[in-house]
Amino acid sequence: EQFGFTAVGEGQRQKLVNQVFARVASRYDLMNDLMSGGLHRLWKDDLINWLAPPRTPNDFHLLDVAGGTGDIAARFLKAAGDDECCTICDISPEMLKVAQKRFSDTPAHAPRIVSGDAANLPLPDETMDAYTIAFGIRNVTEIDKALSEAYRVLKTGGRFLCLEFSHVDVPLLDTIYDQYSFKAIPVLGGLVAGDSESYKYLVESIRNFPDQEDFSTMIGDAGFAQVRYRNLTGGIAAIHSGWKL
Ligand code: SAM
Repeated sequence: EQFGFTAVGEGQRQKLVNQVFARVASRYDLMNDLMSGGLHRLWKDDLINWLAPPRTPNDFHLLDVAGGTGDIAARFLKAAGDDECCTICDISPEMLKVAQKRFSDTPAHAPRIVSGDAANLPLPDETMDAYTIAFGIRNVTEIDKALSEAYRVLKTGGRFLCLEFSHVDVPLLDTIYDQYSFKAIPVLGGLVAGDSESYKYLVESIRNFPDQEDFSTMIGDAGFAQVRYRNLTGGIAAIHSGWKL
């Protein structure tokens, strides 16, 4: 197994990933803004725009996996209206605690919060209209399993959407981005979150993740149809979409 660029023993990786998010949870939202210059907000808006949840009440149910502090869920509820259903699932109790706090003012419309592994979702078959995962899937050790779990919990006609860092394919931007990620991000992580090692992992895990085409093939192999992707900011991130038909 690989933890960033370091080889680790069988079964070790998820434990190390969990330590990263336990350590950064309280500073996570602030760090996202600082590191991406606020871009992650636009990318998350793009994800919800592409999902285009119905505005009319119709029991649309979104499952947001690796939902962390609840950024996608909050945007979904804003776009779809408070009456729609949303479930956040994440493996980290520390990240979910931040999510719980965020929705504590509006308990009637708060998302359901479930702790669980993307590769083994504690949820029944064919119950979700949409499945989203934002900056989550590259942390999962068995990506194939996470994709087949997404397929399992979706209803027929359901939508899969994944927002993830991807591979930059623009000359010059790729060099600048490399310098920024390997030099600046761990330093920022050290200064703001007091934890440069965790941010080193985050950068390395981005480089290990399959590129746009390879990831599309994996999504198709899990059973999804009409697999498409959109690059965001020159491929720094990408949104992949597929349908369970
Ligand atoms: N989706 C949120 C966002 O976009 O702000 C959080 C993304 S954060 C970079 C990654 C999240 O993935 C963390 O909250 C972490 O706990 C979660 N995670 C890591 N491995 C997981 C797994 N196997 N199953 C579910 N969640 C996992």
